[in-house]
Amino acid sequence: MSDTQRSGAGAASGSELISLDAAELARRIHAREVSSVDVTRAHLERIEAVDGPAESGVHAFLHLDAEGALAAAEAADRAIADGAPASPLAGVPVALKDNLTTTDMPTTAASRILEGWRPPYDATVVARLRAAGLVPLGKTNLDEFAMGSSTENSAFGPSRNPWDLTRIPGGSGGGSSSAVAAGESPLALGSDTGGSIRQPGAVTGTVGVKPTYGTVSRYGLIAFSSSLDQIGPCARSVLDAALLHEVIGGQDANDQTSVSAPLPPVVEAAQAGARGDLSGVRIGIVTEFSGEGYQPGVLGAFTDAVRTLGELGAEVVEVSCPSFTYALPAYYLIAPSEASSNLARFDAMRYGLRVGDDGEHAADEVMSLTREAGFGAEVKRRIMIGTHALSAGSYDALYGKAQKARTLIVRDFTAAFETCDVLISPTTPTTAFPIGERADDPLAMYLADLCTIPSNLAGNAALSVPCGLSADDGLPVGLQIMAPALADDRAYRVAAAYEVARGPGAGPRIPELRALETTR
Ligand code: GLN
Repeated sequence: MSDTQRSGAGAASGSELISLDAAELARRIHAREVSSVDVTRAHLERIEAVDGPAESGVHAFLHLDAEGALAAAEAADRAIADGAPASPLAGVPVALKDNLTTTDMPTTAASRILEGWRPPYDATVVARLRAAGLVPLGKTNLDEFAMGSSTENSAFGPSRNPWDLTRIPGGSGGGSSSAVAAGESPLALGSDTGGSIRQPGAVTGTVGVKPTYGTVSRYGLIAFSSSLDQIGPCARSVLDAALLHEVIGGQDANDQTSVSAPLPPVVEAAQAGARGDLSGVRIGIVTEFSGEGYQPGVLGAFTDAVRTLGELGAEVVEVSCPSFTYALPAYYLIAPSEASSNLARFDAMRYGLRVGDDGEHAADEVMSLTREAGFGAEVKRRIMIGTHALSAGSYDALYGKAQKARTLIVRDFTAAFETCDVLISPTTPTTAFPIGERADDPLAMYLADLCTIPSNLAGNAALSVPCGLSADDGLPVGLQIMAPALADDRAYRVAAAYEVARGPGAGPRIPELRALETTR
């Protein structure tokens, strides 16, 4: 049943507008049944109602630009009235993770070191959204510099999971996913270095996509681990994610790792998948991603999803990818190594915070005082691990070995994709955990990305699609679908077919925020 059928076509109350998919919003805006200004206002009102206060609200946004959003919405309405809509998503609101540079809004990466910084240029993805007539609402919360799995590492306080406000919304892009899950925005952008789009998607019951490395420009993404970082869409439906993916994707001269191959036909694939036939598709279950440490409710929902995929005509087999067990340790050497180098640019001279600039301190002292005060504990931990892993005495044993493990992981994927079109696993081993539960236990926190990291290391495409609620706690579970590099369309096709067959099994897509409403 579509949203239109559920709520009766034609009506356009604010509460209805915030529950509609981006594709349906775009259809109505283009048919001039509703204006982009009304749609934007409805979302701004929703944000006003549920996002704050930071101590108890969803707290998905670090910065809201109501004025800019309404101006962009008016421009989209005008273009449509003139018969020249910029793109299929023109007029639809979108939220931006706050590690994407924006000329008209601050960009902090949720770090004190960048507090108040106004970038001089827009990230390519942001420029493309604007050119396509989308309406940026504001900047969303994240773990500082995208390092974390819960948003608890944000210098500005955590975001909360709309399904249960005492729990984490995942990370690092928990702000983007919780905004989408809470009906604050139909679409958002995230960045995924080890799972930061897919894991928040899984635990908030939304769709999150990590495109093939190099197919979405990283220009203007504040670099964490440049060989792993990839920007991608967050949405409430597979088709919406595909529509946004097509707006942001494609080669960019400003990103030297950007690939010239044409963007895989993700929208076409999502539409084809929605017809619900997966016959001829071979799906491999990664056997390494189950067992100890996996919540029974997660495995239960995953098993149901496997059955559904079989009913859709797919052939489902088991495949072993033995090197995937090295992915987590390899990632936690490679990502911090690259981060230690990328974060050297925050030197108190060029951006944001400057501490000790009082004429009493030498430049190197200002630099260390600023970094001491400006970076949070997890960022410092990563810089230290990375610096150590790259140091002359440890390089071969740590960084070098991690790169060898990376090669083995790539080989496992290559072998598995020789017999399977896509691979699947739960997106995360558990559902959303309570805020604070893993905050002092980095290793427990790192385990949240066990299943998502291999695709970053190999650079292939992967997404998470909601796969029902865990029988343990009633919280959303994600199904991860991985596809070969430049075959993102395969993952979309399978996800769209699954989404239709799954039906309303994931419960209401916009939860009621009970806890919040009773505290206000
Ligand atoms: N949670 C992982 C980390 O802390 C992944 C983060 C990400 O994808 N940005 O590094």
